Amino acid sequence: MEKLLTIIIPCYNEEDSIEHFFYETEKIDLPVKREYLFVDDGSKDSSLNKIKELYTAYPDKVRYLSFSRNFGKEAGIYAGLKEAQGDYVVLMDVDMQDPPSLLPRMYHILTEEDYDCVGTRRINRKGEPIIRSFFASAFYKLMNRVSEIEIIDGARDFRMMTRQMVDSILEITEYNRFSKGIFAWVGFDTYYLEYENVERKHGETAWSFWGLFKYSLEGITSFTEAPLDIASFIGFFTFLLAVLLAAVFFVRTLIFDNPTDGWTSLMVVVLALGGLQLLSLGVLGKYLGKMFLETKNRPVYIIKETEKEMMKNRK
Ligand code: UDP
Ligand code: MG
Repeated sequence: MEKLLTIIIPCYNEEDSIEHFFYETEKIDLPVKREYLFVDDGSKDSSLNKIKELYTAYPDKVRYLSFSRNFGKEAGIYAGLKEAQGDYVVLMDVDMQDPPSLLPRMYHILTEEDYDCVGTRRINRKGEPIIRSFFASAFYKLMNRVSEIEIIDGARDFRMMTRQMVDSILEITEYNRFSKGIFAWVGFDTYYLEYENVERKHGETAWSFWGLFKYSLEGITSFTEAPLDIASFIGFFTFLLAVLLAAVFFVRTLIFDNPTDGWTSLMVVVLALGGLQLLSLGVLGKYLGKMFLETKNRPVYIIKETEKEMMKNRK
């Protein structure tokens, strides 16, 4: 039977990129049948219409899902993986930053060499603000130090996987989804293709600095309990220090008899402890917040319409 490759494309306000992406990717020859699965992540522009036009023109090749609002790229990826029908699945950005020209090689490695997944890795971050690159690489260093799974610096979401790996990913139903961590967590053999960074074709990146900061926090708190350990450790250490200081000051007061002298040191201790308590509380709160969201058991995304509705309306 002929194999099928599903190309999942999360789109958020990408009206200028969708058509270009489709035709550029269509130019690429692949020894496998393909379906394009566009996930419209609650776009506010005419992205959905652009996708529908493509569906009307190529109904046997194009499928789509449209969310009821913006749920974020992670939700888009999850929905795409869930709805994908392919024996192989590839995730791609619509802005041409994931070069379609890599697809044949990815497919070749997946089918001919014994890998379950082919990831891609940018070897540079050309065209990206320096400060962003700096924080990004700091994040990967920290992440790899504190968590048990390894996340490759520069690894993109652009990856092709076997059905087996996709099914394993779908078994992870958690609400707080940090895909890069999940891909690493499920294991399997991943081959990393390297390529030079490509700048965005149309539109602007949807990531703000604050968004990236939250994304990093999400990554760290989803995949490691290290911050909890660190908070407990610092707390314990400070407590020891406080006991030691108390002893020192006690002896000093006995010898030098100078009671007002203690004020400064007292303030230092109070402030230090107060700060640490706040820090630990913040960390704890973060985990608790995650549990709160997790126990609510809300769906990761809500689909408003798919190509099936459009098909029905036409009849
Ligand atoms: N995206 C999405 N939902 C969002 C933000 C982004 O589906 O809330 C999509 C976006 O349309 C694009 C991909 O995710 O196809 C990557 O987004 P972007 O290019 O803004 O990120 P960057 O490449 O700068 O990391
Ligand atoms: Mg991009």
